[in-house]
Amino acid sequence: MTTTDRTRLDPKTDDIGARLTFDRSRPGRMGVLLPALDVPTAELPDSRFLRHDLRLPELAQNEVIRYFLGLSKLNYNIDSGFYPLGSCTMKYNPKINEDVARLAGFANVHPLQEPKSAQGALRTMSLLQDALSEITGMDAVSLAPAAGAQGELCGILMIKAYLAERGESHRRTVLIPDSAHGTNPATAAMAGFDVVTVPSTSDGNSDIDFLRSALNNGVAAMMLTLPSTLGLFDPNIEQIAAMLHDHGALLYGDGANQNAFLGRARFGDIGFDVVHLNLHKTFSTPHGGGGPGAGPVCVKSHLAPYLPAPIVTGDEGNYRLKTPEHTIGKTMAFHGNFGVLVRALTYIRSLGADGLRAISENAVINANYVLVRLRDAYKLPYDRTCLHEVVLSGSRQKAASGVKTLDIAKRLIDYGFHPPTIYFPLIVDEALMIEPTEAEGKEALDDFCDAMLSIARESEEDPDIVKGAPHTAPLRRLDEATAARKPVLRWTPKAEPTS
Ligand SMILES: *Cc1c(COP(=O)(O)O)cnc(C)c1O
Repeated sequence: MTTTDRTRLDPKTDDIGARLTFDRSRPGRMGVLLPALDVPTAELPDSRFLRHDLRLPELAQNEVIRYFLGLSKLNYNIDSGFYPLGSCTMKYNPKINEDVARLAGFANVHPLQEPKSAQGALRTMSLLQDALSEITGMDAVSLAPAAGAQGELCGILMIKAYLAERGESHRRTVLIPDSAHGTNPATAAMAGFDVVTVPSTSDGNSDIDFLRSALNNGVAAMMLTLPSTLGLFDPNIEQIAAMLHDHGALLYGDGANQNAFLGRARFGDIGFDVVHLNLHKTFSTPHGGGGPGAGPVCVKSHLAPYLPAPIVTGDEGNYRLKTPEHTIGKTMAFHGNFGVLVRALTYIRSLGADGLRAISENAVINANYVLVRLRDAYKLPYDRTCLHEVVLSGSRQKAASGVKTLDIAKRLIDYGFHPPTIYFPLIVDEALMIEPTEAEGKEALDDFCDAMLSIARESEEDPDIVKGAPHTAPLRRLDEATAARKPVLRWTPKAEPTS
């Protein structure tokens, strides 16, 4: 069979990633039919506009569609199946969010439009600011940051500006638990602070005794993830907040994963001064290649003057953008990722207060269901009821038969699942961090747990099948060292196309 009469592309058999549209090109093929010329031909005004060396692929329309559809089938996404990527919250994105974001008034609004002709868009942002401030128990919100990490940087820069204003720039240390997401220490370091790592106790909480010894008037803040990346709620959290405030330091909350306690506990009530949220996790907007993010920062009133610009103020008929008095500045062009904000507000409004509360109930029940079903087969390093995610370890399998957590993750691909987050948090040896999310039903959880139990059995009875996985994916294991050291990033023509 020649390439040209291959009409159906199957990602399993066609070398779809290896042969690009350029390689499939045939001179003269076209994707559209143009009508015959009905005006006289004219020379281009300037021959410098002509490029003769530009090679573009020439394909029929169906070849283009099949090629890209085939490529898309190589991708695993939340619409194709269970995606338990802990901490990243790959939960289902309800399609009503998309319907609303595509309404002409939202999709066609221009960032440079006069506020009076964009009242609906500004009101949408204002409603979202209010909703997030109520959900977090904070006083003011900026929707500007484009990601969780950017929200963190804004939060820490606000703390820095606030301390500088009070003549307390000698506070140069930020305390961060050893279980934290890598963006936390990276943020503190980028903002010019020294990071001191707070160890976790054997039950997964921040070590209070260590904290007491580390607190002095050089400490600017502590960055704390709640629930922690172990999926655990630190019962000492109010005491930690009080200890920091007693020493003149602030408490930063990493609120990337709020499906754990939406509608049940609020950062503001607990004693946090500033928190960022990930709309693209908790509030169901697409991410992971599916869309841009949004990491709003929510603050108590003492930090409100420092919020990143712009924020929306005003009321009915008179909404406008405002630059807070001592703003840390802008984090990106215009108003943040507006389309993401529309989707998140749609999610919040379509669920309502009861619906948001149901999210945390289902997220926690689902994660604990997985914990209970898998706890005999895999090591459970912190033997406690978890919140929205459960962290297991493949260390037992590694010791018994040399099957590593990486192998278990790869083997899950053969069973048709996206692997969970692995080797994070760093304090858990051979970590398997599973977040089923509230969006899944019991059948999906059971299918996943059955696969995990089956892999645990295989690790004992036939470890090589696990170590060699995946066996069914279009690509097997990559040589990661070569891929990193000698990446092939350019397409080179194999041969001149023939007609
Ligand atoms: C995802 C995540 C972040 C970073 O968010 P991005 O939008 O990826 O920058 C920070 N902290 C935690 C706990 C997270 O899960």
